[in-house]
Amino acid sequence: MDELARRWLAVQRDLGGDELIVDTPIEVSASSPDAPVEATSERTPPRRSKPLPGAPRGIESVVPQDPEPIASVGPAIVPKRYAEGDLPAYLKDAPGIPPAGLVVTLPPPPAAAWPTLEAVAETVAGCRACPLCADRTNTVPGEGNPTASLMVVGEGPGEQEDLSGRPFVGRAGELLDKMLLAIETPRPTVYIANVVKCRPPRNRTPLPDERAACLPYLHRQIALVRPKVLLALGATAAEALLGVKKPLGELRLKVHRLDGIPLVVTYHPAALLRNPNWKRPAWDDVRIARQLLDALV
Ligand code: SF4
Repeated sequence: MDELARRWLAVQRDLGGDELIVDTPIEVSASSPDAPVEATSERTPPRRSKPLPGAPRGIESVVPQDPEPIASVGPAIVPKRYAEGDLPAYLKDAPGIPPAGLVVTLPPPPAAAWPTLEAVAETVAGCRACPLCADRTNTVPGEGNPTASLMVVGEGPGEQEDLSGRPFVGRAGELLDKMLLAIETPRPTVYIANVVKCRPPRNRTPLPDERAACLPYLHRQIALVRPKVLLALGATAAEALLGVKKPLGELRLKVHRLDGIPLVVTYHPAALLRNPNWKRPAWDDVRIARQLLDALV
C-alpha cells in the first residue's frame, strides 16, 4: 500500500467510517499500528470477536446479545427529577439508547493487585515495563473522583500531559471539560485515565505491546473505581478496552459491557479539534452515556 493510501485509511479511521470502497484489493496488516480498518465486506458481526494482539489473556468478547439490557432501546431516558419539569439541555433531541454491543470479561486481578488508586499511581511512577518509559517527563496515571459514576478513558498522554503529569490538560482537555459540563457531569465528578501512562514519541498511537504492558494498570483502576458507565475516547481506547480491532464507526452507537459496566465509544477530543464536523455525533455519544447514568444512578 502506498503512503497516500495509508494516510487515507488513517483518516477513515478517525472518521469512524464503517465501509471502504476500493478499486483494487489492498493489504491491511493486523499487527500494524496504522492498520485501523478491516478490509472486509462482512455486514453481520461474528459470534466471537478476535482479541487484540497483545491483549491480556482472559479477555472474552462475545457479540451481540446483552444478557441484562440496561434500558430498552429507543427514546431518550428522562430522569425522574425532570419528569414534571423542563428537560435538561442534554436531552433535547437526544438520540436514545442504542442496542447492545460487545460483552467483554476481564481477567481476574492478580492476588497481589494494587489495593488503591494511589498504589497504582506509585507503581506507574517507577514503571519501566515498556519502551515508552525512556522519553517521559512524568507518568500520567489518571486522576479524578475515586468513586466516580462516569469514568473516561483516553489513549495516552500528549505533550502537555507529559509535562504536567495530568490527563487531558491541553486543548483537547478543555474540550473534554466542556463536553462533560454539557451533560452535567463536571470534570471533578468523573475519573479520567489513559490506556498508556507514558507519552508515546511524537504523540504516535501506542503500539500493541505498549498497550498490553500498560493495560493491567487501567484494568485495576476500573476495578477500584467501579464506575456505572465507561466512556472510551477514540479507537485506541475502545480497541484496548474491548479487545477487538474494529473501526470506530462499528464501535460507536452501541452499549458494550466491560465486566458488566456499560461502555460507550466516541471520538477523541483531539480528533474533534481537527474535524469539528464530528462534534455533533460526539455530542450524541456523550448524551447516550449520560442517559445510561440516568438509568443506573
Ligand atoms: S506506558 Fe505503561 S507500561 Fe509503559 S513504561 Fe509507562 S507505565 Fe509502564
